[in-house]
Amino acid sequence: MSKHYDLIAIGAGSGGLSVAERAARYGAKCAVIEKGRLGGTCVNVGCVPKKVMWFGAGIAHTLKDATDYGFQVGETRFDWAALKASRDAYVKGINDWYHTYLSDSNIDEIAGTARFVDARTLDVDGQRYTADHIVIAPGGAPLVPDTPGAELGITSDGFFELEQLPPRVAVVGSGYIAVELAGLFNALGSDVTMLLRREHLLRSFDAMLRENLTEEMFGDGIDILARTQVKQITREPDGTLCIECENGQRLEGFDELIWAIGRYPLTQDLNLEAAGVAMDEEGYIPVDKFQETGVEGIYAIGDVTGCAQLTPVAIAAGRRLSDRLFGGMKGRHLPYENIATVVFSHPPIGTVGLTESIARDLHGESVKVYQTRFTAMYNALTERKQKTAMKLVTVGAQEKVVGCHIIGPGADEMLQGFAVAIRMGATKKDLDDTVAIHPTSSEELVTMR
Ligand code: FAD
Ligand code: NDP
Repeated sequence: MSKHYDLIAIGAGSGGLSVAERAARYGAKCAVIEKGRLGGTCVNVGCVPKKVMWFGAGIAHTLKDATDYGFQVGETRFDWAALKASRDAYVKGINDWYHTYLSDSNIDEIAGTARFVDARTLDVDGQRYTADHIVIAPGGAPLVPDTPGAELGITSDGFFELEQLPPRVAVVGSGYIAVELAGLFNALGSDVTMLLRREHLLRSFDAMLRENLTEEMFGDGIDILARTQVKQITREPDGTLCIECENGQRLEGFDELIWAIGRYPLTQDLNLEAAGVAMDEEGYIPVDKFQETGVEGIYAIGDVTGCAQLTPVAIAAGRRLSDRLFGGMKGRHLPYENIATVVFSHPPIGTVGLTESIARDLHGESVKVYQTRFTAMYNALTERKQKTAMKLVTVGAQEKVVGCHIIGPGADEMLQGFAVAIRMGATKKDLDDTVAIHPTSSEELVTMR
């Protein structure tokens, strides 16, 4: 006998929980199927524990600056295991909260791995469930290459299991995770080497951001090796890792190697063929603007669609889908333009809209760029200098702002409000007409010439 629902979400991560929660609020009978821990990647092995570590790294930086502000700081000692224990307890609290939250929201929690039987039926460990609407939200997992010795390295998942600070770390990759983990390790005391297979880190970001970040990371003592592809990894008799590179370089003495080279969608075990749902060659599920897969009643949201793999995107797509399906909001969907994002580097990056180079490709001569680079007041007194840099990309005679890019302390919190303005179509004049808040770094964004 199968149990029937109005909506079932596969995966209780950012997307699955949100679509079910919003649908249940409209009175739909919902269930979420989860094979792991409630909260998915973000809560367990992503945004949340990462941000805890980022705060820890920030304290390490502040301790270095303290004497410049007149504090006599004695010998300090960092206890990785203590921070991990507090972090794990915090995450466990969120997991527990979700159990209560689901039951309070009248959403059934089904533990196990979902697999399609047909377009309306799912199997979870031998039990059948049917639904009018099935939302596929299984997220993804970190990629590990087939390089010889790759298994000697760990991924971001393994990072969150580390019981102690590794003295020497190699981080392979050049995206969000590589940059964030390299910065954390460095601030907390590891000796860090980044291996980039191409020339730049954060290749798809505005050039100003990646150039400034590269300079800051070098300044913090991170060794960044460009055009360095890993050929083989071996474990030496003393237990450390040795990395042989395609360019002939041999790098020795690493305690950990982190693969941060992207993620793959968890679609292999879903038996999507039985439902007739198509995947692309990388396993992602293509969807239209309504998150529809092409099979009636089956939708995909979040990382599994391969678009803007960010928690608030999965949440927004899920909520809007339920608004449309159960809330009578015909046409409601998530537009994927102008999604703001932050890289929790040191200093952080906040960015929204078009890079200068894409804007110039699209709009040619009508692009006008405003930028500034300065030392924030906090750093005026510190020996450890950090630059803040900002860029506004505008288009046309009205100078409509189509891109806003910030790197510097506070960029993470600064961006959200500017993202609202840009979404509403703000022009450079609108920013200029906004009275500044002084003394802040963000005032530069409304006073740029
Ligand atoms: P997930 O959150 O991955 O949830 C999917 C769930 O489905 C998982 O719990 C999984 O166990 C379950 N599942 C999979 N297959 C099945 C199955 N067959 N049956 C049952 N259950 C299944 N984003 C940000 O916005 N800000 C950040 O700071 C940020 N930091 C990150 C840091 C790291 C290290 C990582 C890895 C990611 C980070 N992200 C961040 C990205 C963010 O975590 C993801 O975009 C988000 O979690 C995607 O949500 P989702 O619902 O698509 O998938
Ligand atoms: P990313 O896609 O950000 O970056 C991975 C990069 O690694 C690629 O762009 C590529 O860059 C490089 N790469 C790919 N294959 C190899 C290889 N074999 N060897 C060396 N380098 C390689 O992936 P991440 O894993 O960093 O993060 C996954 C996603 O999670 C992100 O895209 C983001 O959406 C999300 N995330 C968001 C965060 C946030 O919001 N703060 C934080 C962490 C993750 P190139 O081609 O230039 O070499």
